[in-house]
Amino acid sequence: MSLPSLEINQERWNRMLIKSYWAALLISILVECLFLIGTKVPTVEFIHAYIIRPTVILAIVVLLAELGVRYLSKHHDYVLISAATLMTVTITTIHSSLEYLLFFLFFPIMISIFYFQYKKLLFAILNTGIALLCIYIFDPDINRNVTFVGLMAMASILLIYSGIAFVVLARGREVLIHLRTSYESNQELLVRTILMDKLAKTDALTDTYNHMAYHEYKDHLVEQADKGGMLLHLAIMDIDNFKMVNDTYGHKAGDEVLKEVASIARSKTGSNDIVARYGGEEFVILFTEKSFQEVFDLVEDIRNSIASTTHAALQHSNVTVSIGLNPYFPGMGREELFLGADAALYEAKHSGKNRTVLATAALTDQSISS
Ligand code: GH3
Ligand code: MG
Ligand code: MG
Repeated sequence: MSLPSLEINQERWNRMLIKSYWAALLISILVECLFLIGTKVPTVEFIHAYIIRPTVILAIVVLLAELGVRYLSKHHDYVLISAATLMTVTITTIHSSLEYLLFFLFFPIMISIFYFQYKKLLFAILNTGIALLCIYIFDPDINRNVTFVGLMAMASILLIYSGIAFVVLARGREVLIHLRTSYESNQELLVRTILMDKLAKTDALTDTYNHMAYHEYKDHLVEQADKGGMLLHLAIMDIDNFKMVNDTYGHKAGDEVLKEVASIARSKTGSNDIVARYGGEEFVILFTEKSFQEVFDLVEDIRNSIASTTHAALQHSNVTVSIGLNPYFPGMGREELFLGADAALYEAKHSGKNRTVLATAALTDQSISS
């Protein structure tokens, strides 16, 4: 199974690996310099054989790895594992009298675990196995110093280490899969919660906010208007003679009209406004961050649009709405906001319907009608 998320930041980690290769090169130079103090080998010969030659070879290997990482777009990881193998072969063969350095050949396997991919681990094991065999066959010093039994012991240790590497990798992948599954189910839960939240706030017939959501938003917006002076207006809109619509054309036709009226109100308002079905054939609209004139023009636009829309379900006749509009003033309170708009709506109904009445004008019996 492929785990694409394992590729995250791979480029950055590969760069860090290359840096660690350069660091290994520096450390090898320092260690050789330390050996220079106690060696019986003549200084010039030692410097040439153990410092200059391995440094040049290792530098070429790391430079090739740099080029590989830069120009081989898909095979960075294999380049780095191969470079690790070449480095260990170089260090081991330079010091072929120190046969214990052969254990250094496990280095590529360690590097491959880093990628958490079985094919890269197998590639590293193959690298190490071939390197061990080649060194044993072609390096006369190692061939002389390491017996066949010793070689078999090395191969067995290689197998055991490879087995451990496989287990480490399997465990790591298990943890990753577990993490990913729980991450995905968390995401799913979040999406489901958002959808449930939307469902709980939406009126199923008209796809506007429902009564409960309206109260929630209104409380919050009134608080904002009180504290921060945000502009807020409330309009209550009621379909005129809707009982007659139902009685004449049927309840189903009435539902179609409700949907159409809600759709017009939603299409005319912005994302800062809240359109909700207060109940029955009554809608409320909370307008935010708009001047009185802007709100009034919008409300009138909605009313005129509804009045000029004909409905197939009503044999192409229309319905009208009456609207009570109340601007909020800081300190007014949410009860007063609603009562004012409701009184204005009452006035609109009793002064002929199909009109908008302002809450302040409701008291003085002024109204705007078409
Ligand atoms: P007014 O102009 O004074 O508002 O008169 P009206 O007939 O609109 O008001 P009334 O309150 O007498 O009647 C409202 C009607 O709305 C009664 C009810 O059957 C209808 N109604 C309420 N909810 C729904 C609904 O979800 N679907 C349908 N089709 N009708 C509904
Ligand atoms: Mg009505
Ligand atoms: Mg009503």
